[in-house]
Amino acid sequence: MPDRDQPNDSIDVVIVGAGPAGLTAGIYSARGRLNTVILERNMAGGQIALTELVENFPGFPEGISGFDLSEKMKRQALEFGADLREITGVVSFAPGPDGCYTVVTDHGEIRARSVILAPGVEAKRSGIPGEAEFIGRGVSWCATCDGALYKGRTVAVVGGGDSAVEEGLFLTKFADKVYLVHRRDELRAAEIAQERAFANPKFEFVWDSVPRQIVGGDLVEALEVQNVKTQELRSLPVNGVFFYIGQLPNTGFLKGIVELDGMGYIVTDALLRTSLPGVFACGDAHANPLKQIAMAIGEGALAAVQAERYLDELDCPTPGA
Ligand code: NAP
Repeated sequence: MPDRDQPNDSIDVVIVGAGPAGLTAGIYSARGRLNTVILERNMAGGQIALTELVENFPGFPEGISGFDLSEKMKRQALEFGADLREITGVVSFAPGPDGCYTVVTDHGEIRARSVILAPGVEAKRSGIPGEAEFIGRGVSWCATCDGALYKGRTVAVVGGGDSAVEEGLFLTKFADKVYLVHRRDELRAAEIAQERAFANPKFEFVWDSVPRQIVGGDLVEALEVQNVKTQELRSLPVNGVFFYIGQLPNTGFLKGIVELDGMGYIVTDALLRTSLPGVFACGDAHANPLKQIAMAIGEGALAAVQAERYLDELDCPTPGA
């Protein structure tokens, strides 16, 4: 059984990230009796913890709240003996001459014989005037967190993917009207989400349009958008703007250390091995073709099994032993 009070020097696997991929890796690794530390930033569950209802995770035909699903995964990892440590961020990550890796966090250093990278992604910023200025005063990236503030109000959702459409649908529980601003005239979201959005009378689609500026006084009062075909400008009277224009991997701390692709996603082979021996990657920050919880947990399991095999074959003692 892994020792929860283990000294840093006896850690077999350190898992960076506590979303579905990281937590699954933790469950498999701890269950494989490896001394396992999971580094959790903000809260366990990553992006799904902020998802109101997950309805495509097998085994839950009625759907399950993202928060509840994350809590269950976290409990499972803890029960098998994983050590979950809260941090605010990873500062750096480097291989040492002894074959161990040092992960430097804002809460101290951790040395481990292998590393599983599952740092996840974060919402992309639009960079338009007013976006930064109105954070917390009408601009948000989290409908689950802030949606209830817009009861009886009007909001705009920017983007045409699964997040924009699903979160827009969630916002119709509170808001009287939801503008969905999309740069094309066709959504990218899954068909079922599109059908629901097209059938929802609270939605108004603003096609072929991009956001240009957010304006207001103390709070957001309007979103100015521009039609990319006609160049026409339009001011949408809204109290809130929710951006879902894609995601960026949380891999800044890996630049120059592990191979990343042009978008910053971690490159691996089919067995999830990164460019460094003993370092594996899984989940949304991995350069994989499907950003889904089901994919993340499959990768988390494989990464942990690969880490276990790597440690079995490693011809070097546990550090500190
Ligand atoms: P996404 O799929 O990358 O969609 C981003 C949307 O924003 C696209 O419609 C894109 O337009 C638009 N966009 C990108 N840059 C823009 C810009 N600068 N200005 C205006 N619009 C811009 O991102 P996502 O919806 O956050 O989803 C991320 C991943 O998670 C996806 O793989 C998605 O399938 C997955 N996801 C799955 C679920 C689920 O299964 N229930 C839920 C949420 C997310 P274009 O369409 O023209 O490119």
